[in-house]
Amino acid sequence: MAKTNTNRTVRVPPGPSQAWNFHPSLPISVSPLFDLPPKPRAAIAWVIGTWFKMAPPVSHVLLALITVAFLLPAAPTMQKTDAGWMLQVAAINFGWSVLLGGALHLYLYVFAAQETRLKFDIRPMEKSSRFTFGNQVWDNIFWSLGSSVVLWTLWTILYFHAAANGWVPTLTGIGQSPVWFVLFFFVIRFWQSFHFYWIHRLIHMPLLFRHVHSLHHRNVNVGPWSGLAMHPVEGFLYFSGILIHFVLPSHPIHVIFHMFSLGLGALYSHSGFEKILFGNTADMKAGSFHHQLHHRYFECNYGSEEMPLDRWFGSFHDGTEAATRRIRARKKLIFAPRQKHP
Ligand SMILES: [Zn+2]
Ligand SMILES: [Zn+2]
Repeated sequence: MAKTNTNRTVRVPPGPSQAWNFHPSLPISVSPLFDLPPKPRAAIAWVIGTWFKMAPPVSHVLLALITVAFLLPAAPTMQKTDAGWMLQVAAINFGWSVLLGGALHLYLYVFAAQETRLKFDIRPMEKSSRFTFGNQVWDNIFWSLGSSVVLWTLWTILYFHAAANGWVPTLTGIGQSPVWFVLFFFVIRFWQSFHFYWIHRLIHMPLLFRHVHSLHHRNVNVGPWSGLAMHPVEGFLYFSGILIHFVLPSHPIHVIFHMFSLGLGALYSHSGFEKILFGNTADMKAGSFHHQLHHRYFECNYGSEEMPLDRWFGSFHDGTEAATRRIRARKKLIFAPRQKHP
């Protein structure tokens, strides 16, 4: 079946199409890299699909290269506790966030350059008293820039100060260990998925959900700025993924790539659109339907597509109606005891 928009026909596969304006082929897939028995062809296709196109994470590698080459303060400068280089790190993080978040929001929502083509949820951004300032967009920008980018910056400053003083293992040059240099990008990608799954499960515990994570979940429908609209406790935990670099030898490009994947990646993944269209021929992967399902149905898809942790622990929503029924039943089980004994 197909849904026709003004000047482009978007193919929509069979499924609960009345629930979504657009969804990818169902059931959605997750990385086959961990499948048993192994599926080498599918695994290779997944890796090629991830790492050989101009979209995240590759675009984050490029931005990390530019940042380390031209914008990051020199290591000897970062040995000291001067405000100058710390403000420079802050300017990098705020600069890229405002540029990318602003560009995505303007292109997709203000100028509506592709209207509702490939948009998961047809509803617009909300104006509601549930949000700070009574406005979803301003709420999201406020919590993103006022809290999450600040915490991202503080973690980054802490790491680079430690690295510049030789307190953590580092790679000073790519030639020191070229194999590890390349391999570590893949490790970071798995680590990000693993770490996100567990901190996300933690903040879905009732007490933390009520006081912390509910701020992010005000966004049942999402836009680019929803990605980093987090309570400070969540922001602190989210960017604590950087701790891996305190243990494993890292090049500054690894660290910046990792932080951009967390910070800038959230702007893409919450964009609300499967892809960004440039005219009628070019496109770029953007939103995550996997995570969009989490925002609508809550107690599912705590992780990402890179590791099948949700499938292993019974919380995977593959986008089908059967999965919606199963997740609703699971939600009742989680909350039933509390409802009986408030
Ligand atoms: Zn989210
Ligand atoms: Zn959540």
